[in-house]
Amino acid sequence: MKDGKRHYRCDVCHKLFDRAFNMKTHRVIHESYREHPFACPFDECGKRFSRKADCNRHTKSVHLRKGQTLNGRPLAVVVDVG
Ligand SMILES: [Zn+2]
Ligand SMILES: [Zn+2]
Repeated sequence: MKDGKRHYRCDVCHKLFDRAFNMKTHRVIHESYREHPFACPFDECGKRFSRKADCNRHTKSVHLRKGQTLNGRPLAVVVDVG
């Protein structure tokens, strides 16, 4: 970071951006997180849900059906938590 350069800071996670556009684009992530707080436990999936039941149903119907596991753990255990 050079002195005198304008930086735009995300007010949620405090990440810095050198362009307002980039910051606003990033800021959308937090908006979607607030509206859809329940994330699919599979990072590579990236789907988010506003209701936990929808998240669990997605996890079961999509990932469990494929026989996927999360970090080597049986997926059923993950789904049952919470
Ligand atoms: Zn942020
Ligand atoms: Zn998923």
